[in-house]
Amino acid sequence: MNPRPLMFFGTTNLDLCFNVERLPTPGESLMGKLNRNPGGKGANQAVAAARLGLKPLFYTRLGGDEAGQSLLQSLREAGVRAEAITICAGEVSGSALVLVGDDGSNMIVIDPGANLNVMPAMVESAAAFIAPGALVVAEMGLPISALNRLFEMKSEKGFELIFNPAPVRPGLSPAAWRQVDYVTPNQTEAFELTGVEVTDFDSAAVAASKLLHLGPKAALITLGAQGAFYADAAHSFALRAFPVKVVDTTAAGDAFNGAFAASLAQGLPLRDSVRRALAVAALCVTRRGAQASMPLAAEVDEFLK
Ligand code: ADP
Repeated sequence: MNPRPLMFFGTTNLDLCFNVERLPTPGESLMGKLNRNPGGKGANQAVAAARLGLKPLFYTRLGGDEAGQSLLQSLREAGVRAEAITICAGEVSGSALVLVGDDGSNMIVIDPGANLNVMPAMVESAAAFIAPGALVVAEMGLPISALNRLFEMKSEKGFELIFNPAPVRPGLSPAAWRQVDYVTPNQTEAFELTGVEVTDFDSAAVAASKLLHLGPKAALITLGAQGAFYADAAHSFALRAFPVKVVDTTAAGDAFNGAFAASLAQGLPLRDSVRRALAVAALCVTRRGAQASMPLAAEVDEFLK
């Protein structure tokens, strides 16, 4: 069976990752080892789905700089379809300065660059790529006005919508919230959206019911090493994370979201889709990096045997 069309909307950044012995104090200079990695939540999610064998479309806005060219190339190499991506001469691509200490602590500064200039009209043009019956995934790094416009187009275009509210920001309209089919926050984002501290599956259930009051049809909260909690108006369930040796949790949530969307698009039942997303995220945290840590479908099948 052919998978449903899948399209991601989100941000792309060039991550400048410095590994340092410890984080610097103000005024201090330290030596470190630099790696340049493709990143950005939307890009990570699209790559996660592509590595699972889907051919997802991705809408993002890149600068006309060298970084934009290399980010585009790495998306294509990962199997992401790039025809909806805009490259903008005169703009700089998004970038992030990431310092990671030997103890795993980090400091991050982001320059959103071209990501910030996504206007509602641009999303409207990109939506021409959304095929009937598609599954659309959006994260919150794009300007809120653009997200409001995208969500508004849902009934006209007839897509299903997964919304990863990360990083949480105010301003999504009540009408836009009501268009969401699955909202997928982590514990921090669930707290920011509901005021409920999510520490375990019981508190996740309380937060999920508050999330449903915002308008989404279903809430799927990720709880790091504990797993994930799902609830809609009719039922709920919790699934435990797979126990693994953690090396680097960067992009765990992106792996989960990309894989959840990919699994639904492939026609897996809901619970199996959540389980596969947990497996993909578990494999992701056993490896270093963001996009580089996304597993292939065969590796996930082997892991789940
Ligand atoms: P985010 O990366 O957005 O902060 P989480 O920390 O909730 O999101 O992680 C997302 C998912 O990644 C979890 O639901 C889980 O499946 C997986 N995961 C994260 N940390 C671990 C871990 N220590 N062991 C196994 N799986 C993990």
